[in-house]
Amino acid sequence: MPRTEYPLLSPSLGSQKTLVGFHYGTPGARPKVYIQASLHAEELPGMLVAHHLREQLQAAEQAGRLRGEVVLVPAANPIGLAQRVNHKAAGRFEFDTAQNFNRHYPDLAAAVRDEALPRLGADAAANVATVRELVGRWLRQWQPASELESLRRQLLLLSHDADLVLDLHCDMEAVLHLYSEDSCWAPFEPLARLLGCQAVLLAHESGGGPFDERLSGLWWQLAAALRAAGSQAPLPQGCASTTVELRGEADVGHAHAGDDARAIVQFLEHVGALACTTPPSLPPMACEPTPLSGSQTLHTGAPGVLVFLARPGDRVAVGDVVAEVIDPTAAGHARVHEVRAEVAGVLYATVRERYVVTGGEIGKIAGAMPFRTGDLLGA
Ligand SMILES: [Zn+2]
Repeated sequence: MPRTEYPLLSPSLGSQKTLVGFHYGTPGARPKVYIQASLHAEELPGMLVAHHLREQLQAAEQAGRLRGEVVLVPAANPIGLAQRVNHKAAGRFEFDTAQNFNRHYPDLAAAVRDEALPRLGADAAANVATVRELVGRWLRQWQPASELESLRRQLLLLSHDADLVLDLHCDMEAVLHLYSEDSCWAPFEPLARLLGCQAVLLAHESGGGPFDERLSGLWWQLAAALRAAGSQAPLPQGCASTTVELRGEADVGHAHAGDDARAIVQFLEHVGALACTTPPSLPPMACEPTPLSGSQTLHTGAPGVLVFLARPGDRVAVGDVVAEVIDPTAAGHARVHEVRAEVAGVLYATVRERYVVTGGEIGKIAGAMPFRTGDLLGA
């Protein structure tokens, strides 16, 4: 179980941050599973899950159960972890650029397309190996211009050749849910069962260049480019990636983290990364997958004190009052502004603050009918 330190580009005199990765199993063994936590640095449940996973993976390795390769990065954003304002963590956007730490990853399909297409032939496995090699080469020649770019490059260097990628996040207050691309749902359905996901949000492409979608999008985008060029060369989905939202920011405790780590270990057994005597039994799905384009983000039309009438995990119908926004200074009867559901489905996440400004987000409902277009992720 080597522990490896990866230095990031120094942004300033006397300052250099380091990313730490743990490597289990034999490099090159398949499947390779890459797991990282807390890319949004104030989202800490995944970091605690990583702590529990380390114990279990080390025990599995000592017992000779590692069949594939597992790379674990427990704290994927040392830059954001060090950012604080007014005594509060501020790890979602980089201070220097205001960029979201989980956007603006390079378009890997565009980076290798011209070189890859003429080299892909009739052998699907050889095609997968070729694309991985080209992406690895492109990443190694990429000269990052900033500390933030060097973080993105290092995370992609560790993950680009993985068969499966789990990016562990959380929402503000939420039930356990996950995001993935349509092309990755089949491999992750067992994970959603094991974790007990109460919402699954699938998209063809969310937009904005998030970490997970650059890794999985590479494959279906190259496959589409092959078809557009009239090529019959087979190119399977060489990497399936998902963003797992481990409930809310305050849901950091050993009970949840232990359960989630065990579910991930069972998933590793299910996919053959860990040997096991009896395959884990998969519980039934706790929800139906819904399109990310059908997820309604609730906004308030008035400022005030936010009082929820529904909580994450509740099913709501169209017209249900999800929350009241109360202005105790208003004259007459204008004191209570109701925020109602416009789609039916599970209220899967809400904000944590209890004061909201006009137009502010207050929560998200997983509706079954697509209605949104364009970039589907929030800020
Ligand atoms: Zn996040």
